[in-house]
Amino acid sequence: MENKIYDYVIIGAGIAGCSTAYFLSRHTNNILLIDKNDSVAGGASGAAGAFLSPLLGKNNSFKDLVTKALKFSTQFYKDNFSDCIINNGVLRIPKNEDDREKFKTYDHDFEFTINDNGYFFPIGSLINSTKLCLNLTTNINKLLGFNVDKIKFADNLWYINDKIKTKNLILCTGAYVDFLPSYVQIRPVWGQRIVCKSSKKLTHNYHKECSVSLSLDNTYDNDTKKPYLISIGATHHRLVLEKKCDNTFVFPNFSTCNHCPTGCKEDTQKLLAMANDIIKLDDLEVIEAYGGARASSHDYFPVIGDLVDDTLTLKEFSYLKNGTYVPSNRFTRHKNLFVLNGVGGRGFVLSPYLAKQLVEHIIGGKELEEDIKSERLFKRWVKK
Ligand SMILES: Cc1cc2nc3c(=O)[nH]c(=O)nc-3n(C[C@H](O)[C@H](O)[C@H](O)COP(=O)(O)OP(=O)(O)OC[C@H]3O[C@@H](n4cnc5c(N)ncnc54)[C@H](O)[C@@H]3O)c2cc1C
Repeated sequence: MENKIYDYVIIGAGIAGCSTAYFLSRHTNNILLIDKNDSVAGGASGAAGAFLSPLLGKNNSFKDLVTKALKFSTQFYKDNFSDCIINNGVLRIPKNEDDREKFKTYDHDFEFTINDNGYFFPIGSLINSTKLCLNLTTNINKLLGFNVDKIKFADNLWYINDKIKTKNLILCTGAYVDFLPSYVQIRPVWGQRIVCKSSKKLTHNYHKECSVSLSLDNTYDNDTKKPYLISIGATHHRLVLEKKCDNTFVFPNFSTCNHCPTGCKEDTQKLLAMANDIIKLDDLEVIEAYGGARASSHDYFPVIGDLVDDTLTLKEFSYLKNGTYVPSNRFTRHKNLFVLNGVGGRGFVLSPYLAKQLVEHIIGGKELEEDIKSERLFKRWVKK
């Protein structure tokens, strides 16, 4: 057992964990960021196209959240990590005539211009996901290639694999939910992105049924005359996973398909067809494919902050099961245990915005928005 006691250990070095580490590091340098992969962004965050784009649709509280997060995160990346963001805009193309009519009725929260094909939003951006996660955590102590298989709370400390001690533990484990209470019910949504060579130069991102990135200039190769790299993503698969007796899921080993040269052929063909429906790209050559699992909650909102201790809360208020109302501030929380998860298909939009709120909540006691707290998931689960 190490003697050192950390102020904070974060499990998960994806965009959620790296953003959390970045904002925490403004308050303390006694932080450890752990991941089972050998590098940061080895999970969904490395697979992501990492497009930033507005959510179009009717007004509702989820759209409000995405709009606030997109404004914040875009500015945050530009101010602090300008070499990880390309802000050249996105052309959003309606899927069909029905969709085109709907586009006209939406309140668009961002500046746009209409052209023949669709709506061009200057706010649209592309993020270099791995470089961003590396840059967010330059000054953070990391323990990579370390699989956490046990966490335990004793004597006011969290013990990780009976080896590492910390006062506070933050779970940013994405689609791996082994340490989350069962009421959180995060579902994995699998997807693939491909990287292709093309001779066509695209100057902004596109989105219709998939996203197509602008061409990355620095990939120009005079010899092949197929110089530009573009990124095309992503497919969506909701897999039904086998449940273990403790209610956690048996995962396929998706680390093996995380960065394979060809990827899933069916998904690759699907992406190429969807991309060609956006813009004719005759001479595409697929050079890489990335796969990963997005972590989605049942109501699509993320889950941030303290975690309700379902066992102790139900012991005290067993009548919650009959639907009796108990104010959430009376629920018992797991001590010094926090979460940032459920960022779904918008991790690069949501994570910096949410990580800042999480840190202000942990350090300064700032109240979190109701929609993103764990209580809502506990209340829904307990009723069932
Ligand atoms: C194909 C694809 C395309 C996407 N495109 C976009 C996009 O264009 N824009 C966008 O904003 N989002 C996109 N997303 C979604 C985005 O990738 C996710 O929202 C985001 O990466 C989630 O970040 P995370 O940190 O929560 O999870 P992850 O990046 O999965 O990080 C979780 C980390 O926790 C680690 N971990 C888990 N359990 C343990 C353990 N027991 N011990 C040690 N380490 C552990 C894992 O190894 C992993 O590295 C896409 C996702 C996919 C799959």
